[in-house]
Amino acid sequence: MAKRKRRAKQGSLVLICAWCNTKIPPDTEVFSIATKKLPGIDLSNHEGKFIPLHLALAKKRVEGFVAPKGSPAKKDGYDVVFVACSENCGRALKTALQKEKEAAGLMSMN
Ligand SMILES: [Zn+2]
Repeated sequence: MAKRKRRAKQGSLVLICAWCNTKIPPDTEVFSIATKKLPGIDLSNHEGKFIPLHLALAKKRVEGFVAPKGSPAKKDGYDVVFVACSENCGRALKTALQKEKEAAGLMSMN
């Protein structure tokens, strides 16, 4: 007999796809894209928070979560994590991030 366990509610945090801005309902599979720190941006004051980042080439504003010290993402060497609603959005975001990094045009909006 399977044990039924209620999922703990994680506050009222609603995840929003960083790429298409669709609200991701709870209990939905999300795709995460982790990236290393971007040159010229000091994220130390934003650990554990979402920050808006401007993708100059894609002409888009995306929200990224700054991994706090000791988090799994940080241990893997990543600094910013984005969530996406679908594999397509994840891939599009990843490609866009890559282009921005190559152009070194990614700027914090803060
Ligand atoms: Zn999406």
